Amino acid sequence: MTHAFDQDDTARSLTAYLDASPSPFHAVESTAALLLAAGFTRLAETDPTPSAPGRYMTVRGGSLIAWSTEADPAPATPFRVVGAHTDSPNLRIKPRPDVLRAGWQQLAVEIYGGPLLNTWLDRDLGLSGRVAVRGESGAEGRLLLIDEPLLRVSQLAPHLDRTVNSEGLKLNPQQHLVPHWGQGETAGDLLGFIAERLEVPASHVLGWDLMTHDLTPARRIGRDRDLIASARLDNLATSFAASIALVAAVEAGTPGVVPVIALFDHEEVGSTTERGAQSTFLTATLERIVLSRNGSREDYLRALAGTVIASGDMAHATNPNYADRHEAGHHVQMNGGPVLKINAQARYATDGLGAAAFRLACEQAGVPVQSFVTRTDLPCGSTVGPMTSALTGATTVDFGAPTLSMHSTREACGVADQAMYAGALQAFLSPA
Ligand code: ZN
Repeated sequence: MTHAFDQDDTARSLTAYLDASPSPFHAVESTAALLLAAGFTRLAETDPTPSAPGRYMTVRGGSLIAWSTEADPAPATPFRVVGAHTDSPNLRIKPRPDVLRAGWQQLAVEIYGGPLLNTWLDRDLGLSGRVAVRGESGAEGRLLLIDEPLLRVSQLAPHLDRTVNSEGLKLNPQQHLVPHWGQGETAGDLLGFIAERLEVPASHVLGWDLMTHDLTPARRIGRDRDLIASARLDNLATSFAASIALVAAVEAGTPGVVPVIALFDHEEVGSTTERGAQSTFLTATLERIVLSRNGSREDYLRALAGTVIASGDMAHATNPNYADRHEAGHHVQMNGGPVLKINAQARYATDGLGAAAFRLACEQAGVPVQSFVTRTDLPCGSTVGPMTSALTGATTVDFGAPTLSMHSTREACGVADQAMYAGALQAFLSPA
């Protein structure tokens, strides 16, 4: 079987998904909308998990898990899980944000994750995330999306920073990354501004998880328009591929497995939160899927023993200007297909059997596979694969799609890669 994802359609849907998802909370809603349209039911975690076979999803903040028991309702049926993350490095608004410096109204920010700080300079920035608002009974989370050029972090001109090009840019995050949004004699009033946007009294705004985003839309670039440039490709490209792969797999049928996607928040800050990959969200949900179908704890552990997890996070394509930073024998070519990520120190969870499961899926989809390892004299990044592997005991493979400028506000990936990526994941979720 060859995968059925059209390159142009996939690129078009991905760019729309990226633009609609500036925060993890919005990414989860973008996936939920896509799944709802495909007949999935959204469950609250406080609801009982239905015993009837069907397509379901549940959301915990910026994380989402979706699954289908339609094809094989037997309780001990093993899972096929595709994991990814919904968060990206950015600037996050501090609790007392209003700063007044040199006649400028600014907003105090913290750095979230490990961004390329220079890429946040001189951009037109909007604001998004979740605001906790006083409700009828306690607080409720409300989504906020301001796709307007509110904020800017202005770089110093070279006339005032004579060595910037010869010695490199040095940025102190406390001092140099503070965005300005207005001018005046007194500090601005972000809380009042947010309350007005949400149409609630200022006293009803009780907390927030707000972040900045670049307003430049995702677009195709290159002579042949064979690349996609966008913010947040790491890792919304994988979240998107997982979402459309799940729908396609369920439509085609998944006998012998329960297909699952697990999209986690907080990967960029270590995953140790209530909804990160180190949390109970995945294991509790998988156990509930088994128990709701009258399975026992023994059935759950049997299901886990047969489970395979594919943990997706973007992979470094070889940058032509820095080819020597990549392992010479393992160059990753843009539009060369999905990438197995391997590290002997287990910074990636891939072992031989995990790699084999992924290769078989790519073979089934008619998609080529590449391999990535870092140079032996450079430290290796990590991702959620080793965590979900340790928590579940499942065979796990770390993989990704080729990407340039990872952690920039303007990353790039391949158009052909995205269709191949979704095809490989569909095959992984419905093994032949
Ligand atoms: Zn990532």
